[in-house]
Amino acid sequence: MNDERSRALYDRALSVMPGGVNSAVRAAIEPYPFFVQKGDAGHVIDADGDRLIDWVMGLGPLLLGHDLPEPVQAAIQRTASEGPMYGTPTEVEVDLAEFVARHVPSVEKIRFVNSGTEATVSAVRLVRGATGRNKIVIMQGGYHGAQESTLVEGDADTPAPSSAGIPHDFAKHTLPVPFNDEAAVQEVFDEHGDDIAGVLVEPILANYGIVHPVDGYLETLRELTDEHGSLLIFDEVITGFRVGGLGCAQSRFGITPDITTFGKIIGGGFPVGAIGGRADLIEHFAPTGDVFQAGTFSGHPVTMAAGLETLTFAAENDVYDHVNGLGEQLRGGLTDILADQAPNYTVVGTDSMFKVIFTRDGPAREGLEGQCEAGCTQNPECPRFGFCPKNAGDVKRAETERWRRIFWGKMREQGVFLSQNQFESQFISYGHTSEDVERTLEAYKHTL
Ligand code: PMP
Repeated sequence: MNDERSRALYDRALSVMPGGVNSAVRAAIEPYPFFVQKGDAGHVIDADGDRLIDWVMGLGPLLLGHDLPEPVQAAIQRTASEGPMYGTPTEVEVDLAEFVARHVPSVEKIRFVNSGTEATVSAVRLVRGATGRNKIVIMQGGYHGAQESTLVEGDADTPAPSSAGIPHDFAKHTLPVPFNDEAAVQEVFDEHGDDIAGVLVEPILANYGIVHPVDGYLETLRELTDEHGSLLIFDEVITGFRVGGLGCAQSRFGITPDITTFGKIIGGGFPVGAIGGRADLIEHFAPTGDVFQAGTFSGHPVTMAAGLETLTFAAENDVYDHVNGLGEQLRGGLTDILADQAPNYTVVGTDSMFKVIFTRDGPAREGLEGQCEAGCTQNPECPRFGFCPKNAGDVKRAETERWRRIFWGKMREQGVFLSQNQFESQFISYGHTSEDVERTLEAYKHTL
């Protein structure tokens, strides 16, 4: 593989950008990331002209792949050429807000912002403002963007900032608990219930292995927050409009949170975030309420048009059948390969998300047998039946070193682009084909 141009670009980038990148994860691949020239359906062409099957898909936003259907392209180009933005409202913002409110159970009103991070920052401020309380419960291994209230590690007794630059005095208001552990969250509510403004949770952990909630866990969060006058926030930045189709993961699980954060797909490939929820809660945002929230680019017309046309296209075409069908094909094929070649590893995912995690020594956990909803592990024939990760501790057993040293590079040599971090989900798009899946399975087989 010829990487000359990527290497030269990276050298230039290193002298003007920290780590040569604008988002930390992109530099995870050693010795340097490849640069992309352009996309093509389910593929990307790198700066040196090599074609790769792209399962990263912009880290999730590109439900339709790189070739946007004609109506989506036309709306983006028309909107960009007419403005591109004004600092005063436009009709397309209302159209997208109405679309989301129509399809997502928890959303009566919504505020659009510019990233998933901005959405979770604003959601946390909102629940603090609405309840007059300070503490936020988060899940160990969850990710909510690069923000002060959630870059916190440890446990509820000893929370600590996970990044330099965050005062301990901020981190002490965040209570991390293990996902899927009902006793742990119950304990935190027993101790701090009156101070907890909200629980912030990805309904499926998607940044750390793809971990499904066990039966009853999300129900427990719903009940505990209701009981204690706290608010439940689902972070659907990844699962929104991907898991459970247009109803999002909350419709799949039948749990309605008070607040939902969105990002990624809702902006059709342009910078976006959103905070939706019950009208009386969302109205705590200024100007109706006293929780300040504002942004020059919020509700950007090009983003709104891209999001609206993407979701409308998905509503009117076989997008979810296509991507979820390929998801089954991919997870099923991977399950067979692992059974044969790497029985200690695990296939995880659902709908159009998938991942192989290099987790060893994971015996069936007592009481959790068969509860995983992630494809292969529902199948009693699967040698891994009964085991799949249930929280960050389980996922942590993955072999980071092998992934970095061998796996990612070997997959890339065979023309397959996987996510740069071994814990993050990979995504299937409408641009992918059955042939892409078969070629990817061959590459996994060879590499494993
Ligand atoms: N929440 C979740 C669940 C995410 O996965 C991410 C990013 N992957 C974010 C929030 C932050 O979104 P952004 O990177 O757009 O700021």
